[in-house]
Amino acid sequence: MRHIQRAPLYSKKRIAKDTVEMVIQSKEIAEQARPGQFLHMHVPHHTLRRPISIAHIDRENHLITILYKEIGSGTRTLSQCTVGDEINVLGPLGNGFPLEQQVGSTALLIGGGIGVPPLYALGTELRDRGVNVISVLGYQTKESVFYEAQFKELGETIIVTDDGSYGEKGLVTDALSLLKDFDHYYTCGPKPMIQAVVNSIDAVPGHISLEERMGCGLGACFACVIPTDDEKGYKKICQDGPVFSQEEVVL
Ligand SMILES: Cc1cc2nc3c(=O)[nH]c(=O)nc-3n(C[C@H](O)[C@H](O)[C@H](O)COP(=O)(O)OP(=O)(O)OC[C@H]3O[C@@H](n4cnc5c(N)ncnc54)[C@H](O)[C@@H]3O)c2cc1C
Repeated sequence: MRHIQRAPLYSKKRIAKDTVEMVIQSKEIAEQARPGQFLHMHVPHHTLRRPISIAHIDRENHLITILYKEIGSGTRTLSQCTVGDEINVLGPLGNGFPLEQQVGSTALLIGGGIGVPPLYALGTELRDRGVNVISVLGYQTKESVFYEAQFKELGETIIVTDDGSYGEKGLVTDALSLLKDFDHYYTCGPKPMIQAVVNSIDAVPGHISLEERMGCGLGACFACVIPTDDEKGYKKICQDGPVFSQEEVVL
């Protein structure tokens, strides 16, 4: 059952430029959460909650990690919470990534900026299930890079930056041309990046996670609809997604 929780803030640290790692403690969320789902965070003095992906689930210790970029009033206010504060969280919400990849197969994770966090939860779970994990992570600059060591523990990891200040210079799609041997891909990041990724890989199935602007998070307000090819016309990112198969929606 998904309901509002008051989850204590267990730890908080700045891990890159304007990027914060928060760990909250909740037995219920840790038991229910799946990679690709998100938490809808209440922010003091803000009417709308802010959706943030689950980046890691520690089921044993009931800890859930989120990573977010401070881009506006909501995320900056969230960062003012201090360890021990009770955070009002709705979730876990949404449909996560499918995890049926076969043992020994290879998954390619492609993340851009604030789209990287849900791929870490996914990569951890796939690795634990015996799937080989390769990651291509794109950031703006060296100062924005986070979780490189964590992804390297999962498998081969290529970092690219827009300005070449760290890793390879260029876009994630430049690195994709070097990688041929994978059975499934999963991607999350800005919509133009997802479009470019989907257009450049056609031989294997893929799943995308969309982090567009969202309202209620529960399917009631229709603020986050995305067109589809089928007769239903639209899907709701909050309820039907945020994860979709690559052919399910029109980007
Ligand atoms: C399912 C889902 C999962 C998400 N997971 C993460 C995550 O793991 N880490 C993370 O950092 N962010 C994530 N986001 C995005 C995050 O919700 C927004 O960055 C946050 O709500 C912005 O709130 P704010 O009040 O700080 O900014 P606002 O004041 O609301 O906006 C500041 C500026 O950012 C733009 N903006 C706001 N939201 C978005 C958005 N979703 N996409 C593009 N531009 C936006 C606004 O147009 C404005 O220009 C996720 C979004 C969704 C829908």
